[in-house]
Amino acid sequence: MKNTKELRTWLDDMNLDHPLVVAGPCSAETEEQVLNIAHQLKDSDVNYFRAGIWKPRTRPGNFEGVGALGLKWLQKVKAETGMKTATEVANANHVKLALEHDIDLLWIGARSTVSPFIVQEIADALNGTDKIVLVKNPVNPDLALWLGGIERLYTANIKNLGVIHRGFSTYEKTKYRNIPEWQIAIELQNRFPDLPLICDPSHITGNREMIFDVSQTALDLNFDGLMIETHFDPENAWSDAAQQVTPKTLIQIMDDLRIRKPTDTEADYRAELESLRTQINVADSQLIDILGKRMKVSDKIGALKKEKNVAVLQSKRWNEILGNMILEGESKGLSEEFVLKMFKAIHQESINHQEKIIKK
Ligand code: PEP
Ligand code: MN
Repeated sequence: MKNTKELRTWLDDMNLDHPLVVAGPCSAETEEQVLNIAHQLKDSDVNYFRAGIWKPRTRPGNFEGVGALGLKWLQKVKAETGMKTATEVANANHVKLALEHDIDLLWIGARSTVSPFIVQEIADALNGTDKIVLVKNPVNPDLALWLGGIERLYTANIKNLGVIHRGFSTYEKTKYRNIPEWQIAIELQNRFPDLPLICDPSHITGNREMIFDVSQTALDLNFDGLMIETHFDPENAWSDAAQQVTPKTLIQIMDDLRIRKPTDTEADYRAELESLRTQINVADSQLIDILGKRMKVSDKIGALKKEKNVAVLQSKRWNEILGNMILEGESKGLSEEFVLKMFKAIHQESINHQEKIIKK
């Protein structure tokens, strides 16, 4: 991708004074449901009305979408409310049908981005389109796979591109449905600063209570927009019931978000500072998380030592760790003095943990 500025022309041309908003139900269920939600969103900041027509479900037997019939309902949404429309496409036939029904924005879902074969099939079917095409991150935290998807579309002469960050799947139980791993989105921004970046807090959180916070973090990290699942009766939605919000809540969320509009140098400075501070917060949480994990491993070593009745302090091993870390630290611009201090503190905490276990 040579001229990355052209990637954001479609977004800049919209001249928005707020982040781009894509909202609507996870799935189109019935014509009444789709139109009801659309009419409630009509006079809000929502730019694109979304609805899943073909639903990729993790396990068979769940509602798998109404199919092509739902595209007609989206056309009605456009005719009745003036909102543009958006849906997920997962194969060449979906693309053909979506284009025939004049859907304005197509996105590639997380389960499709993982497969270069599928992305290529979609790219070929879309070749040269002037529709907006957004690529969700793959289910697994693999930046190269995500970038590969974008490159395949760009190579197929699709210039109105963007990406959606919807979090990553993990075996570990966390408070998120899909952990945000913000550093991956930050890295993507560093590589392609002009590529429009949209956050999908619905699939990151899996829980409507957390949508505001995740949306705010995304905006503080310079995201360009939000995709938020919206349903008039979230609890009874046919898919993703726990994470959908009502149109009223969505409008409230948009009202409450601190939206940065850099208008002068002072505002620019503060926006930049805010964004950097959010990056620091992300890094700090990761530090605590990784230290917690390290301590858990250390506890296991403590239990082993207890079983075998060996001493907690193993100086040879400790000197080896220190030597390696000083070298690694140097390569990251960290002084020897700092690395020593930090590892002494970590080591002390580790010894405290192990002694507690041994004395138990
Ligand atoms: C969706 O947006 O409804 C969806 C299925 O998302 P994802 O591909 O992120 O799971
Ligand atoms: Mn969904």
